[in-house]
Amino acid sequence: MSADPVVYPHTGPAPARGAIRILQLYPRDMNIYGDWGNLLTLARRSQWHGYDVELLSYNNGDTLPDEVDLVVGGGGQDSGQERIKKDLVSIGPQLRGWAADGVPMLVICGLYQLFGHRFVTGEGSEIPGIGLLDAETVAGPGRLIGNIVLDSPTFGRVVGYENHSGLTRLGPGAEPLGSVRSGDGNNGEDGTEGARVHNVIGTYLHGPLLPKNPAVADWLLERAVTLRGGTWDPLPIDDADARHASTVAASRPR
Ligand code: GLN
Repeated sequence: MSADPVVYPHTGPAPARGAIRILQLYPRDMNIYGDWGNLLTLARRSQWHGYDVELLSYNNGDTLPDEVDLVVGGGGQDSGQERIKKDLVSIGPQLRGWAADGVPMLVICGLYQLFGHRFVTGEGSEIPGIGLLDAETVAGPGRLIGNIVLDSPTFGRVVGYENHSGLTRLGPGAEPLGSVRSGDGNNGEDGTEGARVHNVIGTYLHGPLLPKNPAVADWLLERAVTLRGGTWDPLPIDDADARHASTVAASRPR
């Protein structure tokens, strides 16, 4: 854990409604195609909704904090996944416990794969996952690259950018995040994208995901606030730019 959390105070004249403690997993090795923007979006929206934010990071060999309200993690190359695999397996029980307790989490691409049971690389080596999501990934013959648009039962249209070799299949214990309207998603075949269990979302969508999809960001924050008995009473935020960015990205060819 980084020595002290970085604290961003809430905006606005009213007293803070509380503090949200966000943990970013492996920013050193797993942070690609703008995934750090997810953390920034969560931090800013927390401030705008009247909460102080405490940001913590966890890299190989660090100690996990005792308590967190929200966990985020990004994607990375196969080599980054190789670097964190041992450490991730060692903290797997803690992460699974938090997930079972309802801690909201968002993991993208490389960490999405390793939140599943395993990722078998193109060279045939197996990178073990932590089995938090009932999903399994095997590298395919090519890469699935480009803008992607989903229909999500919870969030409506979700827009992002995918770039992965892994083909992910869900088991019965995971729900997809959405169905693919354009793009490839989990495997390019069954029309599913991402995986959900408890309050955990795994997805291939970089971009980063949250600036263009504020409904997903606020859903994560709502879960974080209500986790410890708080009441989610969001303040109005002007999301015109986010909607515009989402529409432009959705209209771009692959
Ligand atoms: N290495 C993984 C794959 O290509 C993850 C890629 C990523 O996180 N962008 O499937």
